[in-house]
Amino acid sequence: MLFHCDYDVKCLGTAIPAYYLHVMECWKRFHSKEISDLTVQSFSSCIVRNNRHIRIDKKNIFWEDFYKAGLIYVGDLFDSKGSLKGFQYWVSKGVSPSRLFQWMSLIDAIPRNWISAIKGKDLASVKRNLKFDVTKICIDMNIISISSLYSKRIYTAIVRKKATSVIASYLVEALEKQGATLEHLYLLAHKLKIDMKIREFYYKFICNRLATGEWLYKVGITDSNLCTFCNCEKETVKHLFIECHIIKSFWEKYLEWRLIASKKLEDLPLVNIMLGINISELPVEENLCLLYAKYFIYGCKYRNEKPIFSNFIKYLESKHDVEKYIAEKNNQLEEQKKRWGCVFKYFESTKTPVSSS
Ligand SMILES: [Zn+2]
Repeated sequence: MLFHCDYDVKCLGTAIPAYYLHVMECWKRFHSKEISDLTVQSFSSCIVRNNRHIRIDKKNIFWEDFYKAGLIYVGDLFDSKGSLKGFQYWVSKGVSPSRLFQWMSLIDAIPRNWISAIKGKDLASVKRNLKFDVTKICIDMNIISISSLYSKRIYTAIVRKKATSVIASYLVEALEKQGATLEHLYLLAHKLKIDMKIREFYYKFICNRLATGEWLYKVGITDSNLCTFCNCEKETVKHLFIECHIIKSFWEKYLEWRLIASKKLEDLPLVNIMLGINISELPVEENLCLLYAKYFIYGCKYRNEKPIFSNFIKYLESKHDVEKYIAEKNNQLEEQKKRWGCVFKYFESTKTPVSSS
């Protein structure tokens, strides 16, 4: 049950050996979820025992007699209509009448905003939805019986949680919007069959590890954190790739080019420029193009050049031609054509109209 409690390791007592305290600390970091939604559900489903928000004289609360009488969750202190149960209720469940003052201190220890959030609410339905069952645990959004848990399962969940936390914040929202997962994000580089240099760029991009002006300034390599292109805003990844006014005109040209080729007025939201289009699905041809575009922009920043769209097309065509040459030599022309798909068609239909920037 301790694993379900919202405990503070420092308050677990000195009788616990250091190793177990370390385990508890790790578990806390892995499992803790701040009460961010101020709902009746979240307050009433908090376990009273070892709760860092509910203390008497700076000590955790665990009273066996109240526990045996049915006090596990904060919600147990209330009846189904959201009124505080009187002390007599606990006496009727077997608690000694001499425990009146302890019960009063407990009510006093419950945070005021929790009580006012629960008071008068219909708890009958809430209680049926209680998240915690002491025999089960929630891992990766799945409820798993503790008896069937094994270390590899927990290890995988920890690695996944760690991996999620390194994903750049500018991609997290986009991932959610597309209903894609972290796996899709990592697999994209594999699906696109890009070379090592661009693959390295891609992983740095998704993990927010690119050497932007902001980062270079922070580590003392440059004297300014301003954008290479506009020289007036802080150069973050988001600014560099979508927010900078110079980059915005680059993407406008890209959309024009795309429109001429596809003859369809499809919108390309900024999140798709950053993440890619429907990354959880095939085909992904345009994602190859979007990735090359971002790599091109990054290269321009590196060389201190303005990103000119016509130069990007030249760059893209040279990439295409080199790949085509290699594919021809290896008898893989069909596969190469498929990989470039719609982008290849863009070249065909826009050979002449591409204007200079
Ligand atoms: Zn800028």
